[in-house]
Amino acid sequence: MLLEVEGLCVNYGHIEAIRDISFGVQEGEIVCLIGANGAGKTTTLKTISGLRTVREGQVRFDGQDITNVPAYERVALRLSQSPEGRGVFVGMSVRENLDMGAYVRKDVKTPAYREDLDRVFDLFPRLKERERQIAGTMSGGEQQMLAIGRALMARPRLLLLDEPSMGLAPKLIQQIFSIIKEINEQGTTVLVVEQNAAQALKLADTAHILETGEIVRSGTGAELSGDDSVKAAYLGGD
Ligand code: ATP
Repeated sequence: MLLEVEGLCVNYGHIEAIRDISFGVQEGEIVCLIGANGAGKTTTLKTISGLRTVREGQVRFDGQDITNVPAYERVALRLSQSPEGRGVFVGMSVRENLDMGAYVRKDVKTPAYREDLDRVFDLFPRLKERERQIAGTMSGGEQQMLAIGRALMARPRLLLLDEPSMGLAPKLIQQIFSIIKEINEQGTTVLVVEQNAAQALKLADTAHILETGEIVRSGTGAELSGDDSVKAAYLGGD
């Protein structure tokens, strides 16, 4: 297992946001967490990337206990996140945002760095066209591409994506999902949180359903998307 999450409990004050969450992500997989608003998806992801403190439980990455490792060190271990709402640096150019993604790397301006930049530009040609544009002036879809591109600049072994389809037009959603698949096929393991359950289950090797802070169902993407109760609750009943 590349990532192992065991018995994770996270609170906001007295509110238990997630309770006893356990799952694993194998190298090469795409794993999806789906669930309604407030189910605890973002909290789970932020805890894995080190942005939330664990009350109980453990996060292990490549066999190493990283539960108390600070977020920036996790990025250096090659675990990076594209956050909910994109969080691009709005006053910086596209290129500067991508450089920020490589902040913890020690090989900036080397051929390896240039290769990763070219990979991002191949995946997202629009970012190459707009390299000097100020990020805050870009469309929502372009900012989403930039947020994913920035996370890729850390050369992650595990890429965490929080709601990559949020607020995008259907055609763009398709495009983002197919790029996620391509990123995975190029060798990056992906853990994605999505409210768009139908698309997410198509993409997922493994999926987990969260309800009020707990995992209530797990299975392959195909198993869950074919299940009547999952269809009724999450896929619009068809
Ligand atoms: P969404 O899709 O709406 O972001 P989610 O599944 O990602 O939902 P979380 O954002 O992880 O859910 O929230 C889980 C629970 O924790 C919710 O009850 C939420 O109200 C609560 N919560 C999240 N962030 C905070 C916070 N900063 N302070 C207090 N409670 C919070």
